[in-house]
Amino acid sequence: MTKDEMVVDLAFETKVLLWSGIVLGSISIGILGYAVVRNWNRWKEWRQQRQSQQQNRADINGNIPQIDADEEIGDLPDGQLCVICLMRRRRSAFIPCGHLVCCQLCAISVEREVSPKCPLCRQAIRNSMRIFEC
Ligand SMILES: [Zn+2]
Ligand SMILES: [Zn+2]
Repeated sequence: MTKDEMVVDLAFETKVLLWSGIVLGSISIGILGYAVVRNWNRWKEWRQQRQSQQQNRADINGNIPQIDADEEIGDLPDGQLCVICLMRRRRSAFIPCGHLVCCQLCAISVEREVSPKCPLCRQAIRNSMRIFEC
């Protein structure tokens, strides 16, 4: 190997190193960029989901006022169970018939019907009233 050949060889190796460095560098930048974009999108989706969830919760809170947090569910004698959902205690009497057959939630949904009727006597309902036991 002559001196010139060695110089050429060295120059070639340096070039190869340089180019592979550039190629590897751009590949890793590409991967990094891709990861960042993907995470960014995911983060945006997550944020949107959270926002819509919060909105839903706000809607529920806004639409159904004054629901007791300690609404009993289960272990109740049949005579005290709401006739609609059969899950919660009867708490709301209908006006004017005065029948106490619904829990607060079901009373509200009955009240919201186009022509609300008492589920027991089928009389038209004007309103419902929360009953408090002492
Ligand atoms: Zn109910
Ligand atoms: Zn009634």
